[in-house]
Amino acid sequence: MEKREEKYRGKAKTVYATDDRRYLVMHYRDDVSAFDGAKLARLEGKGETNNRINAYVMGKLADAGIASHFVRLLNDRESLVRAMKMVPVECVVRNICAGSMAKRYGIDEGYRLPEPIFEFFLKSDALHDPLVNDDHIRVLGWATQHEIEEMKSLTHRVNRVLKPLFAEAGIDLVDYKLEFGHPIDDPNGPLILGDEFTPDGCRLWDAKTGEKLDKDRFRRDLGEVIEHYREVGRRIGAPL
Ligand code: UDP
Repeated sequence: MEKREEKYRGKAKTVYATDDRRYLVMHYRDDVSAFDGAKLARLEGKGETNNRINAYVMGKLADAGIASHFVRLLNDRESLVRAMKMVPVECVVRNICAGSMAKRYGIDEGYRLPEPIFEFFLKSDALHDPLVNDDHIRVLGWATQHEIEEMKSLTHRVNRVLKPLFAEAGIDLVDYKLEFGHPIDDPNGPLILGDEFTPDGCRLWDAKTGEKLDKDRFRRDLGEVIEHYREVGRRIGAPL
């Protein structure tokens, strides 16, 4: 597979074409952003760490029968992925109340939910990713009713794999964000998981001490961000 021109530069990853239109190279940079791009920095080693954690997690999901766009690791910072047409919404599952949910409903961060809560957000930095419901998504044409059901069901299935995986590593999986799409060579097939699963897109708390091990270390200026990301990788058994 030959790497070709840059296709898209996001806030933390750059995507390159390959000589096969069905595949892309996903390059994990050291850039980190928060608050819809308002806070930016470079964290030495983040690209490498996230590339490896993502590969490991996607592998575990594949073992559990959950398909993703991840194909294989190419090098320290790059992975080969299937080219996708993404659904423009973000799927969040929460096991413990934190972040925007704590703020929106005035509930203490750390409240353990009796069962997981699913939320949809529209993917739009300009609009600050507003919370949306099934009707918004269906009526405004961002996804069909069937795709809505698929996204909910897949996001809950991911929870049933990853919650115990992190729990065995002494980590609470508090919440996380997933994105889905159709591979461009299978536009009418089932939705599959796209984007990434790394400490940039989830909340992970040490189960004993409550210490934050995720991007909240950057958002809240807690320091030693990458040291904690690496600790997550090491504990879940990802080869770093
Ligand atoms: N999240 C993300 N990208 C976004 C918004 C949220 O990866 O654009 C993740 C976030 O890291 C957290 C979960 O989704 O693990 C829920 O985020 P929340 O709605 O609480 O928003 P936040 O407080 O992170 O802005």
